[in-house]
Amino acid sequence: MIQTANLGYPRLGPRREWKRALERYWQGKLTETELHDAIRTVYRDALRRQAAFDLTWVPAGDLTYYDPMLDLAVTFGLVPARFREAYGYAGGPVSLELYFAIARGSDRVPAAEMTKWFNTNYHYIVPELDAVAAGRAPEIADNRPLQAYREAREVVGERARPVVVGPYTFVRLSKGYPEAAFAEVVRAFVPAYRALLRSLAEAGAAWIQIDEPALVLDVPAGDIALLHEVYGALVEAAAPAKLMLQTYFEAVEHYSDVVRLPVAGIGLDFVDGLADNRASVLRHGFPEDKVLGVGLIPGRNVWRADLEAQAAFLRELAAVVPFERMILSPSTSLLFVPISLERETKLDPALRDVLAFADEKLAELRLLARADAPDAEAEAAYRASAEARRRFFAAHPFPAPEAVTAEETTRAIPFEARKKIHAERFSLPLFPTTTIGSFPQTKDVREARARFRKGELDAEGYKAFIRAKIAEWIRIQEELGLDVLVHGEFERTDMVEYFAEKLGGFAFTEHGWVQSYGSRAVRPPIIYGEIVYREPLTVEETAYAQSLTEKPVKGMLTGPVTILKWSYPREDVPPEAIAYSIARALRKEVEALEAAGIRMVQVDEPAFREGLPLKRRHRDRYLDWAVRAFRLATAGARPETQVHTHMCYSEFGDIIDAIKALDADVISIETSRSHGELIQAFEENTYDKEIGLGVYDIHSPRVPDVEEMKALARRALRVLPKENFWINPDCGLKTRDVPETIASLKNMVAAARGLRAEL
Ligand code: GLN
Ligand code: ZN
Repeated sequence: MIQTANLGYPRLGPRREWKRALERYWQGKLTETELHDAIRTVYRDALRRQAAFDLTWVPAGDLTYYDPMLDLAVTFGLVPARFREAYGYAGGPVSLELYFAIARGSDRVPAAEMTKWFNTNYHYIVPELDAVAAGRAPEIADNRPLQAYREAREVVGERARPVVVGPYTFVRLSKGYPEAAFAEVVRAFVPAYRALLRSLAEAGAAWIQIDEPALVLDVPAGDIALLHEVYGALVEAAAPAKLMLQTYFEAVEHYSDVVRLPVAGIGLDFVDGLADNRASVLRHGFPEDKVLGVGLIPGRNVWRADLEAQAAFLRELAAVVPFERMILSPSTSLLFVPISLERETKLDPALRDVLAFADEKLAELRLLARADAPDAEAEAAYRASAEARRRFFAAHPFPAPEAVTAEETTRAIPFEARKKIHAERFSLPLFPTTTIGSFPQTKDVREARARFRKGELDAEGYKAFIRAKIAEWIRIQEELGLDVLVHGEFERTDMVEYFAEKLGGFAFTEHGWVQSYGSRAVRPPIIYGEIVYREPLTVEETAYAQSLTEKPVKGMLTGPVTILKWSYPREDVPPEAIAYSIARALRKEVEALEAAGIRMVQVDEPAFREGLPLKRRHRDRYLDWAVRAFRLATAGARPETQVHTHMCYSEFGDIIDAIKALDADVISIETSRSHGELIQAFEENTYDKEIGLGVYDIHSPRVPDVEEMKALARRALRVLPKENFWINPDCGLKTRDVPETIASLKNMVAAARGLRAEL
């Protein structure tokens, strides 16, 4: 039997107990002790579930109250200065109040920045290293990995393997230091990491999984010496515990150098990094004194693995690395897939048969561990998995898309000319105000939907309810004095699920939740077959909203890249083929909205950047098809229709050409959490289209004040003409409560009015 390890497990709990505990605590319905108990219970249960699959090594790293990157920052006492002051923090353990303030903001201080974890839809809290860069060495203030390990040991004993993000990745993903100081900052972490690893070794860890996914990014050759120096020091401190240097999401850069690092094991991703990692191992070999972590069960998609092909691959690898020196694992943490298929009783059995969630993947891992000497039973199981996949995919052919033409992807007239038409058509004030689409999905909305799904409320009753919500919010928006209105998205559970439910080709789970950030979870649909436009998607609600007001109501669509990225796509179809067929469906919807009298259409692409390949050399190809898909969806719009897009983040520096190429009349972006930092990318590139500044951070319950939003906008206004700017929140408001939403929007409108008077 080959050894097996898991790299990480879903944190939400099988019934989202983790999420519920956090939210109840925030609402004041749980005490601190009750919260601790609830979170530990979910963690212990997860350990037990994993151990049941006979793993050799069970990851001890998913004990968190929000986000493991924040946990590690807190472990090192890295509390940003503004929080230190507001909460009087002077070192040592970090209180729950302070921890959640950093994560979510509080009435005293806005939240720390949150950003996507590599190219996934998981968001982490960005550590701030200003103090370290200024010379204050980090030290262990609150040893959270040790707590997680101790807890795990009680449950699964010596099989527990602590998981810690390594210093190279931690510093690369942090901010608050000049780029030139990178190596110095990494070195500054060495003593603290040494102490951390030593504490884990002393507590009995045999192996420690040290995650360095940043080694799959573009790694400057100059960093290799630094890695040798740092890992030399860490390995010594960790002894006798061994380090498994784990990479994932792509192939490792500088393979020959990395495998020479003094660690005992190197973990590689043979799914997303298959071609390059495989070529590296076969061509350059693998050191005889090391263990190879073979990440082979796909950690980020939900299809059952082709165990026959994987067993064959393992035999191929075994020519270089004997089975005894392999530790088999999923390719990544299983954070990105739901916990189990067990409760999914409504899926089509043929589809269910070719799916695998976290627990099923661990079962596959156990089976694959027999590939060193498979008996007839194992061989049969391997063959069955391959055949089931082949059969299902053949039964659901995905036709090659029609070629996308230049004519289809080009608007009838250029932006300059459209802008004039729009100015006349809409006669908006300077700094027009709008929102991103959704309004609070309050309890009444969730209850009405639940009753509708259970059949307690009929279709007419549900429709009447949605209409009443739309009418209520059109009135609120008019009272607030917003310039461009939205219908509020009350009919949508989720911006992808809603569209997927109306298009053909998607399947849905009942309980397949995955964490997006903090307590927020999403339920990605599964793209199993051809995408078909069967009926209008959004016309009824949007047209109804427009009938209630003279002001323009923006139609609200989710873009092709985002629908693709936030679903689990077919593995055997190129992503661009799927994106184009979604785009063709959306194109029909844009036409239908126009026919219903809608004058502005927003196509949200929050996942546009997340789809960007991690390696620069793969980026142009992706950007080419992603831009083409967006244009295919939108370029059919009439010249007088204003096309908006929205992206919830602020880093555009390296993709600004693609953003320009989208040819959207208006793009709304995040501005608040990055403190206006984003604008540079647009300034330096003389972006000429309109930009909506997300000056209100909707991820936090805090109500931003007028001056603060004005200051953020002013910062953006330094270079580009003021006529180009809109004022808006940085994302949809569905997760917020009504009072804070209204108060914040009131301030936002006041900020826009203030700016108009000032400038
Ligand atoms: N229109 C969507 C909303 O407001 C956009 C959400 C997003 O960008 N994530 O909810
Ligand atoms: Zn957004």
